[in-house]
Amino acid sequence: MRVVIIGNGVAGITCAMTVRKGDPAAEITVISGETEYFFSRTALMYSYMDQLTRRDLEPYERSEYRRQNIQLVKGWMVDCDTQTQHVVLDDGQRIPYDKLVYAVGAKANIFPWKGIDNVKDGLVHFVSMQDLESCERLTPSTQRAVVIGGGLIGIELVECLRHHGVNVTFLVREPYYWPMALGEEEATFVAEEIRHHGVDLRLREEMTEVEVDSSGRVAFVHTNTGERIPCQMLGITAGVRPNIDLLKQFSRPPELGRGIVVNEYLEAPQPNVYAAGDCAEIHMPGQERPLTELIWYSAKRQGAHVARNILGDRQVYTPPTFFNSSKFFEIEYTTVGEVETLPEGTPTLYRKMPGQPISQRVTFNDRQEVLGFNMLGSRWNHELLEDWVNEGRTLDYVKQNLHQAQYDVEFGQVKLDRMEEQIIPLKKFQ
Ligand SMILES: Cc1cc2nc3c(=O)[nH]c(=O)nc-3n(C[C@H](O)[C@H](O)[C@H](O)COP(=O)(O)OP(=O)(O)OC[C@H]3O[C@@H](n4cnc5c(N)ncnc54)[C@H](O)[C@@H]3O)c2cc1C
Repeated sequence: MRVVIIGNGVAGITCAMTVRKGDPAAEITVISGETEYFFSRTALMYSYMDQLTRRDLEPYERSEYRRQNIQLVKGWMVDCDTQTQHVVLDDGQRIPYDKLVYAVGAKANIFPWKGIDNVKDGLVHFVSMQDLESCERLTPSTQRAVVIGGGLIGIELVECLRHHGVNVTFLVREPYYWPMALGEEEATFVAEEIRHHGVDLRLREEMTEVEVDSSGRVAFVHTNTGERIPCQMLGITAGVRPNIDLLKQFSRPPELGRGIVVNEYLEAPQPNVYAAGDCAEIHMPGQERPLTELIWYSAKRQGAHVARNILGDRQVYTPPTFFNSSKFFEIEYTTVGEVETLPEGTPTLYRKMPGQPISQRVTFNDRQEVLGFNMLGSRWNHELLEDWVNEGRTLDYVKQNLHQAQYDVEFGQVKLDRMEEQIIPLKKFQ
């Protein structure tokens, strides 16, 4: 069996390694245009801040692919012949497949802002290895950068720029930082943390135009308040979307919606074609809206799921209980289950340590069963929190046992009995 996987991110590599485990004889080829070897995209910032080398970003020894007999090909897939079952690469190579897996990931959103088409240099995203290289090239000649888009990737880029001493104006269109994930209460102290690190954070402010200098490099950003901010770098981190633009030009593209359309088994309508990870748009029977999960753990899970399907164990994909963790400068962040996705007015237990950027928010339903957690300022065992959501534990149970989910860290655990708590309804950003 010839398995060809497009994309060497966590979905593609997990798929390859899971197929190998189940089929020692399969011919497995992983094709990627970005880098030859799989790297941890979530750790890009640590390389930008010189804390990890490029090689440190690679989760596996390079010899591991040889050991597992997984062939790595560096190149871009530019077409696919689904009748003869071949993929075509940018250097003209035609590679035959019996099973084809799209694991092509996501790319940065960009919108038609005024002046954006004139930019020849100074515009960066923070998604790919090539983005990191652009950031590193531009940093030494940048005194001020403007970063737009107030999510996780934006704050990581801002932190890296501050690390290199660059002045940063961070434009967030919404009235508070990251309302998709944080309540206003948490966002308020995260904003203080961002400003504490010398960032010129502007809320309710957005870019309206970009101006370039005579060489085409970013020179000014105009905002909706009428300001013209001088800058040499513009970071656009306004979310990501499935990476399907190149696929639209194929002679026989897979069915495309927001991502690559697959059914509940992660199978595309074309025979022997699958999709996994950030690029997959999953249509579950009975669900009105398709599912796209643009997070690491889901990409890994979907990659393994497709592999099992290829190996003959055809199961319906079940999305995991949502989990994510990150950092806002020094503030640790763990989220599990449903929080800001719940309807306005959903009751939440909100606990805050007076005077410190530490909080816990627990959502629950009218049977008092917990639905999700947003934990800031300390470290948590997400697996236990997930168990509590999956087991439908009550709010009382969770309050009594919360200490068990706290990680022991260098400076001790948060004194949970010192937190102030109240029940407040979830407020949705309008
Ligand atoms: C800065 C940053 C921080 C993040 N932090 C977190 C986090 O804290 N937690 C979390 O859960 N998630 C995080 N994410 C998201 C997470 O990294 C992704 O969900 C995950 O990497 C998706 O994996 P994937 O395998 O689906 O795709 P990718 O890792 O994007 O891999 C797809 C690969 O396919 C290649 N490719 C695309 N098209 C072609 C083609 N035509 N031919 C050949 N190759 C092609 C791409 O170049 C890429 O190398 C972060 C992302 C970024 C950018």
